[in-house]
Amino acid sequence: SQSLAELDPEVAAAMGGELARQRDTLEMIASENFVPRAVLQAQGSVLTNKYAEGYPGRRYYGGCENVDIVEDLARARVTELFGAEYANVQPHSGAQANAAVLHALMTPGEKLLGLDLAHGGHLTHGMRLNFSGKLYEVHAYGVSKEDHRVDMDEVRKLAKETRPKVIVAGWSAYPRHLDFAAFREIADEVGAYLWVDMAHFAGLVAAGLHPSPVPHAHVVSSTVHKTLGGPRSGLILAKEEFAKKLNSAVFPGQQGGPLMHAIAAKAVAFKIAAGAEFAERQARTLSGAKIIAERLTQADAKDKGVTVLTGGTDVHLVLVDLRNSQLDGQQGEDLLHEIGITVNRNAVPFDPRPPMVTSGLRIGTPALATRGFGDTEFTEVADIIAAALTGSADLDSLRRRVSKLAQDFPLYDGLEDWKLL
Ligand code: PLP
Repeated sequence: SQSLAELDPEVAAAMGGELARQRDTLEMIASENFVPRAVLQAQGSVLTNKYAEGYPGRRYYGGCENVDIVEDLARARVTELFGAEYANVQPHSGAQANAAVLHALMTPGEKLLGLDLAHGGHLTHGMRLNFSGKLYEVHAYGVSKEDHRVDMDEVRKLAKETRPKVIVAGWSAYPRHLDFAAFREIADEVGAYLWVDMAHFAGLVAAGLHPSPVPHAHVVSSTVHKTLGGPRSGLILAKEEFAKKLNSAVFPGQQGGPLMHAIAAKAVAFKIAAGAEFAERQARTLSGAKIIAERLTQADAKDKGVTVLTGGTDVHLVLVDLRNSQLDGQQGEDLLHEIGITVNRNAVPFDPRPPMVTSGLRIGTPALATRGFGDTEFTEVADIIAAALTGSADLDSLRRRVSKLAQDFPLYDGLEDWKLL
């Protein structure tokens, strides 16, 4: 049968263009990563053909003997990786995992307490236009105006006032650890469930470089494709007592047939995440983020109104604060794009600029760490970003320095013309 390039040259050309973009630029979107070849192979496999509604051993379709093995491997590996009692590996995405969690723990109309989207929370934690904001009565805690950290006294106060059914701890843009034990204490005080969404920092948790929410939370959800470095998808972990409710909330509650090719790719990613190389990569990820934070808090940056929220980072990302800069978030994003560095603009808490413009940038290190970057390269990247944001070097010279780094760390060597399979 025909290859993709023969059958559909238009799609093949766009895919080739994307491969070139990933190779030639520096990917610093904090939620992105590069999956290894084995994950690409699993995802681009014949498992995409198989219907497997239900769970291993209890399917609604025949011929599931092979995909049962795959799903059992994925479940066993991820429970072992995080020390969880139960896992569901079927959610198609992080948002769908979160929809299933809320479906299992709450009834529409009940109260949800989560981190404000404008302070780093996620859409599925109660944003007005999201299903979570429409189905549930949402209350939000924020970060403090002084240090931009989540203030547990405020969380406790709001929890006592609102008495939510579920408290969610987790974020899309926050550079520090959350105190999961304190969240659980508050949840217990008000009779709420604690749900932790560790989508961003799951890879750091797996490597033992970030506190684990698993011992504290009733339910933990995650994506697989951010720091965890696997296929674009979601997962749920929980105490065994929630197994039945969560299984039923994912299927038939939210989804039909699971994406067995994605589940195979998850199994592969969980195997990789248990290894020493993965832990070493997460250590470089963390170290790289700290180097960038340190560089962007130096005097020359401050002079131009550039700094980082909370003065540093404990995780894989840095939130650049441009509230005092001439540059807004949009201009910062565009400027870095021009020299070959991809980041996203991000509202900072108490942002005076509108959400489509913003006064912040979210800069992450997972993808470059996967590419092989260590402290030396992250120091160079940090200098390049600082020079761009302070306007202290011409863009051509910065573009050349970015190009050199990209060339020194080849990506997907040999993956030409989609001949991988
Ligand atoms: N939860 C958090 C904390 C996230 O940051 C994200 C993604 O940005 C999600 C959930 C949603 O994941 P997905 O994009 O796979 O639906």
